[in-house]
Amino acid sequence: MTNPHLESTLVLIKPDAVQRGLIGTILARLEAKGLFVLGLRSFVFSDELVREHYADLADRPFFPDLAAFMTSGMTVAVWVSGVDVVAVTRAMIGATNARDAAPGTVRGDLAASTQRNLIHASDSPESARAELARFFPDGPTVAENQAAVRAIYATAETGS
Ligand code: UDP
Ligand code: MG
Repeated sequence: MTNPHLESTLVLIKPDAVQRGLIGTILARLEAKGLFVLGLRSFVFSDELVREHYADLADRPFFPDLAAFMTSGMTVAVWVSGVDVVAVTRAMIGATNARDAAPGTVRGDLAASTQRNLIHASDSPESARAELARFFPDGPTVAENQAAVRAIYATAETGS
């Protein structure tokens, strides 16, 4: 049964995080928060896919260097679900410039760059829908485990 109060977002573990051996650390932080990993895949960004994913940044002076970075190695795409997961995940990743990111956030604890900031998370439910469709055209691999949903949330929070 679909749970109306659970939403989904896209997380990308960027090439710098993969190169630094932080895939497991980042996944562990999402899982430890009580978020659900419903799909996982790895790939290497093409220039074309970077232009699509970061279309709003294509005219910025840093875009060529961003594209070189994003195409430099493996990326891991994660389908993440939870109550208010878009806002929760954005709070967990921290500010874009990792030097400004609060301690306790992924970027604040683990990164020091504006570009090489380890992780992407969708910035609105609308972006999440579009980005999930882009990276997971076949949808999630599994649904939320309902016993885990009941362990993590009060009944009123999930409508179940
Ligand atoms: N970025 C960059 N230079 C900048 C701003 C952004 O290289 O001055 C990169 C950085 O990797 C960032 C991505 O472009 O994560 C997307 O930028 P956005 O402003 O959407 O930040 P985010 O949503 O990732 O916090
Ligand atoms: Mg963004």
